[in-house]
Amino acid sequence: MTRTQPGFAGVVQDEWPRPRGWTPPERVEALPVTTLPGVGATLAKRLRALGIETVRDVLLHRPRRYERAVDEIPISQLWGDEEVAIAGDVVDVRVRRLGGRRTIVTARVKDGTGTIGASWFNQPWLTDKLTPGTHLRLRGKLGRYGFDVRSYDVGEARATADFAPVYPASEQVPSTRLRELARAALTQYGRYLPDPLPAELELPLRADAVLALHFPASEEQAEEARRRLALDELLALQLVVARSRDDSAVAPSLAEPGELSQRYREVLPFTLTEHQERAIMEIDLDLAQTAPMQRLLQGDVGSGKTVVALYVLLRAVENGRQGALMAPTETLAEQHFLTVEPLCAQLGVRCVLLTGSVGAKKARDEIATGTAQIAVGTHALIQRDVEFADLAVAVVDEQHRFGVEQRKALAEGRSPHVLHMTATPIPRTLALTIYGDLAVSEIARPPANRKPIVSAWVGAERSSEAYARLRVHLDAGRQAYVVCPLIEQSETRLARAAEAEAERLRRAELEGYRVGLLHGKLKPADRREVMRQFKEGELDVLVATTVIEVGVDVPNATIMIIQEADRFGLAQLHQLRGRVGRGAEQSYCLLISRDKAEVTDVAQSRLQALVDTTDGFELAEVDLELRGEGQLLGTRQSGWSDLRFTRLRADRDLLERARALAGELRDEDGPWQDEADRLARGADVAA
Ligand code: ADP
Ligand code: MG
Repeated sequence: MTRTQPGFAGVVQDEWPRPRGWTPPERVEALPVTTLPGVGATLAKRLRALGIETVRDVLLHRPRRYERAVDEIPISQLWGDEEVAIAGDVVDVRVRRLGGRRTIVTARVKDGTGTIGASWFNQPWLTDKLTPGTHLRLRGKLGRYGFDVRSYDVGEARATADFAPVYPASEQVPSTRLRELARAALTQYGRYLPDPLPAELELPLRADAVLALHFPASEEQAEEARRRLALDELLALQLVVARSRDDSAVAPSLAEPGELSQRYREVLPFTLTEHQERAIMEIDLDLAQTAPMQRLLQGDVGSGKTVVALYVLLRAVENGRQGALMAPTETLAEQHFLTVEPLCAQLGVRCVLLTGSVGAKKARDEIATGTAQIAVGTHALIQRDVEFADLAVAVVDEQHRFGVEQRKALAEGRSPHVLHMTATPIPRTLALTIYGDLAVSEIARPPANRKPIVSAWVGAERSSEAYARLRVHLDAGRQAYVVCPLIEQSETRLARAAEAEAERLRRAELEGYRVGLLHGKLKPADRREVMRQFKEGELDVLVATTVIEVGVDVPNATIMIIQEADRFGLAQLHQLRGRVGRGAEQSYCLLISRDKAEVTDVAQSRLQALVDTTDGFELAEVDLELRGEGQLLGTRQSGWSDLRFTRLRADRDLLERARALAGELRDEDGPWQDEADRLARGADVAA
């Protein structure tokens, strides 16, 4: 390596000694851990449990933290209870039993100034190592038995060194062992970890960053190394995204908004909010281009996205073309249809619903001939062999990622403009990471006439009070939702549990009220009927599984009870809650957890956050905090594997940089493509 680039001062930069018989490895990612000294089949198996299979994995195993820097003190000057280091020679050693299987090993250690008894707990085998005359370096503090040892080194300072790495370890593979492995891997192969970044960037070399990651000379250096490696992983992610973009796709460029979209504004019983107007402006700019729009419209439940969606569909219609609105389930497609169709009828626009059930043939024909100007359905609208006469705009609701496959299905010759809608507010940094190829519009505030939902959290021991409160609303002519616990894994068992719960409520807390049931196993026609009854006030209460999570819009429903709310995720709770507060009335959400004592700390934090705020973006930040970056990315929302080094909020600048770099490097050959390949193989990009 001859590149002269900023390195990491203080980190050993010389060539490392190579063991005999060493040959330059082709690819460290292909070398199993067993190529490292002292790693046999058993240890390899234990390492696999930590996600470490190759030399590369060892090199990129990120320390959880680093030991603090401490002073080395002469033994005679030991004082107080600060953590310090001492160094000296073993005088003698003995082991004692403390009762049970507990033992204490005490070695007398002597330096030029004095002698002290140093103690280790429950490591009786140490007596073999600590023979008289052995030179030791110890880190620990004064305690009841002399010097309590936290870590020690025989010979060179490693475990006791300042900023020694502490790894995420397991019971079977302690951090000290991982440290040895990291050192061995660095010595033999550190220089051969491929560097995915072009040299012109004048960044520290990746090999130096990896060395500083494991054995930094300071906290700052460790952080600098982390950021360098974060840039690598963000670049790989952004490259995968950039590569999946199809530059050749062409969409019809739509003319300026015209008479139909003007009339639409006039028939709406309200004026659009500033946020809706801004989103519309951004969308109109996209629609004028021939590059197909790929835009994400984020906004909380009830923030008014559907109103924007219909605007976009009508923009296709006024250009003599078709629009499609796609929902993830048939229930939701039906919901959308019920909202959109009356407005379309008023405007003289032909809108059809395409579901798997009756009338499908007729709808298909209308779509194929162009009689239908707007089609509403599930994602099957484009996945199956539905033919459109001239599709110009597709709105995809609540699909977290519009897969490559689906895009292919659309792509035949011409691709429509696509607007993705999600009610899961995602912090902007995360949105740019997961949906790197999408532009983002936000509706950050709901229409002003809406009162924020009041939420309260009670333990199961007080659930009867919650139901009493709910009955007050029912008696005042309002309607309510009761969400069933999320105990069952399968949809069928969940449905059965919901049936049982509805039955129980009819006999107990909700006796005398009209209680309907909605779950995922109902036949479409039955589901439609239940929804109609609830919408038209023929039912007082809807007992439901999470199928009501999105799309259901009944302004007269003003209170919701969520049972065993501690089992749900934060985003899901927030979405469920959005089913109420759709009208001008004050609405309530009552979260019933299991007994408060049984609820985990994290679940408590989730519930408290819901009580504290109704701002979806703020809740998303809390969620990110509680779950960590990797976890959040690892959910079904995306196929991405964990981000190891990135801290999304702190590294916003790196994200922007990686995006820009990915744009430049996308069509160039280089080691960066290998990293992206690896990521693409490991992740289901189309998920
Ligand atoms: P989302 O799709 O984001 O959940 P919707 O578009 O369904 O939200 O809107 C929720 C409710 O708010 C609907 O009843 C809708 O008619 C109403 N709404 C939408 N935009 C406005 C607005 N600008 N002013 C008043 N009410 C609005
Ligand atoms: Mg909606």
